[in-house]
Formats: sequence, structure tokens, C-alpha cells
Amino acid sequence: MRKYPSTHLKLAGLLVAVCAALALINALIAPTPSEPVTIPIPAKEPPQSVAVRADQIEPAPDLPQLIRLTVKNGDNLSSLFAKARLSAGDLQRILSTENADALADLRPGQNIDVQKTTTGRIQQLRYAINPTTTLITTLRNTEYQTTIETVRPDILLKTLHGRISKPHPSLYHAGKQAGLSDNLIMAMANLFQWDISFALDLREGDEFTIVFEALQLNGELIDEGNILAASFVNLGETHEALRYTNSEGETGYFDDNGESLHKAFLRDPVHFSHVSSSFNLKRMHPILKRTMPHRGIDYAANRGTPVRAAGDGKIIKAERNQASGNFVVIQHGEQYTTKYLHLSKFAKGIRASKKIKQGQTIGYVGATGLATGPHLHYEFLVGGVHRNPRTVSLPNAAAVATSEMQAFKAHVNPWVSLLRETLIKN
Ligand SMILES: [Zn+2]
Repeated sequence: MRKYPSTHLKLAGLLVAVCAALALINALIAPTPSEPVTIPIPAKEPPQSVAVRADQIEPAPDLPQLIRLTVKNGDNLSSLFAKARLSAGDLQRILSTENADALADLRPGQNIDVQKTTTGRIQQLRYAINPTTTLITTLRNTEYQTTIETVRPDILLKTLHGRISKPHPSLYHAGKQAGLSDNLIMAMANLFQWDISFALDLREGDEFTIVFEALQLNGELIDEGNILAASFVNLGETHEALRYTNSEGETGYFDDNGESLHKAFLRDPVHFSHVSSSFNLKRMHPILKRTMPHRGIDYAANRGTPVRAAGDGKIIKAERNQASGNFVVIQHGEQYTTKYLHLSKFAKGIRASKKIKQGQTIGYVGATGLATGPHLHYEFLVGGVHRNPRTVSLPNAAAVATSEMQAFKAHVNPWVSLLRETLIKN
């Protein structure tokens, strides 16, 4: 149910970029593996998959060199220890100490540094669980003791501004150009996903500003914290997102009037895709070649792109038929129904009567049923009548309570000023 004009091919390229972005995000989440250093392997030994190397730290002159164990796919603690010929008995004793639980959750790329005694026992083991947390086990007299050391990172506020332009036409490219990480680009897109369709509505000249927490350790950026405020000027209209925690301790993002950005339905059930066929009641069907109303929106996307539930609800159908291929129907309360057609497959556990959360993946883009290429056909029904999901007005989540309006204003006004000053300066 779609054609492929050349502009769409460009957009398909952008989608590939988004997939690359997601891969990158995964790479960012995963810790960086240390550089493996080849060590001579005795001829009889099987090839070693663990990189064992002397660390840069100078060991005490009378102690053996520090050993670094780098976790690879499929490694566990006992295989790592065996490969480095460390005592299995010591490992057992270390694991039975209090606070040693984290050692059971090794992830590829992580390092464990081991200091042996002159007699070959383990003197100390240091395991960096993450940049701010280290597990340390030390042999004291004859007993092992494990402690967890944490350091508190410095939190700095950072403001970045970017613009959609000819050389940077996608949110991803413009975001990278502005210095945003992949995680921040996704977080910003998620903030505005109820109001802006990044699939359809992005234009040259659109601009964004984001104020966020940068977590630093010894002057180095180790992570990003929350987005405190953001604005997105789309098609001349300014959208603002202001983070606020109310007196009940609930945190959300609101506009400057205290209205929640969070709505009952997402604008697009597919992230960053593009619309190849709009809602049109007098459309010529590309396969059946007769006028048939197009009662939904087609989102062209790569096969396998996750399809997200537009709102909280209950699955009433997850089936297959000749025209729709694999399809899902979700009931949202009394009034609303959404339909998702031509899926390549359903997501794990998706079946009738299952409860579903907004944004949850229900299946993957495909071309099953009557479809000329991979796309999602999406329908939105109100009281059983098809409506255009792009333009229908959507119910809002709870606004800031009137009783808290003064506190809310006092909290967000500095952020609003900062956002607007940044816009003027750029
Ligand atoms: Zn369609």
C-alpha cells in the first residue's frame, strides 16, 4: 500500500542512520573493552580467549604482576579464573563473602584486576562495576573481605542548541551536530513524541534547545543525567518541556502552563519513520487498482523496525489474515481502538487479552498481507469510527494541580527564561 518516490529513499537512509544510532546507543551502554594484549601461550595449552595483561600500575616490588581479566562473551567467573590459573578455592571463598553478589553479573568488556601473593593466592581483587562503583575483595590474615566503593560524580548543567538544516536534515544528524549523545537525542525525541511527528513534520529551520545534567568524574563526562528543560520549534510553533517533581514526589514534563506533555496516545507508532500514504478517504488502491478509502496512515520503515503500542490498553486481536497479514488490534478504554497491520512478526508474548503499555513493542514492520513493501499500516478509531491519528485531538495526562501552580511556576520560570534566551541568541 505504498509507492517509493525518491524523497522517501532519502528518508529510508535516515532510518538506517537511526538504526545505526540504536546500535551505537547499545555500544555506549556497554562498557569499553580494554585493549587486549597478546601473551605467549605454552604450546600444549588451548588458545586463550581471555586477555591477561600487566596493568600500568606498578606493583609492589616483592609481589607478582597485577593480572587483568577482561570479560568476553560467554565467560563466567570460574572460566576466567581457570584460564588465568587462579585458585578455584580462593574464588569460592571470595564469592561467599558479604557484598560479593555483583561478581555474579559480569558483562563482556568489564575488567577484574587481581593481585596475587608471592605464594600464588589472591591478595586483592578489584572489579569496576561501573564508572562510579568498584567492588574490592582483600585477603586480611586468612579471611577475605569485600567492600563496595562508590564515588559521587559532579553534576554540571549543560545547554545545547541545534537546528534542522540542509546538511543536517534529520533529528539524529542535527542532534549529533549540536553535540548531543545518541541517548540524549532519543530522550529529546521521547519528550516531544506526543506533540511532534518526527516522521512527518520535521522541517529545515526547526530548532531545539536542551538543558541537561552532565555527570563528571575527575573532569571526564561519564554519563548524562536528566533533561531539565527542552524546547523544540517545529513549523514555527514552540513546544517546551519542563521537568517538575510535585509534592507527591511524582516527576513529569510539562509545558509552561503546567499541562502534561504526556498524552494518552503517541503520534507515531514507529520511531523516526516517514509517512508514505496519508489518511485519505478517496485513494486509488495500489494493488487492487480501485478507489478505496485509506482509513489509516502508512509508515514506511525497514523490515524489523519495532512497532510501538500507541497507548495503554488491552490486545483484542493478534492474528493473521490474507489482506492485513499479521495484525494487532488494541482496545484503549471504552472509546479508542488502534490497529497495526502487515507486521513481519509479533513481539514476544503478544497475544489476545494481554495488557499493554504505551510505547511497548508489539511487533515488527513487515510486508505480510496485501503490501507492496515493508510498512506499517496504522488505524485509529474513536467510538468505532476511523479518524486521522495525525490530527485527532488526544486526551492529556494529568496537569499540575492548581494548588501547586505557584510552586511549579517558581521552579520552571528560570528554565523557561534560559530556553527563550538561548533561542534568541541562536
Ligand atoms: Zn495502508
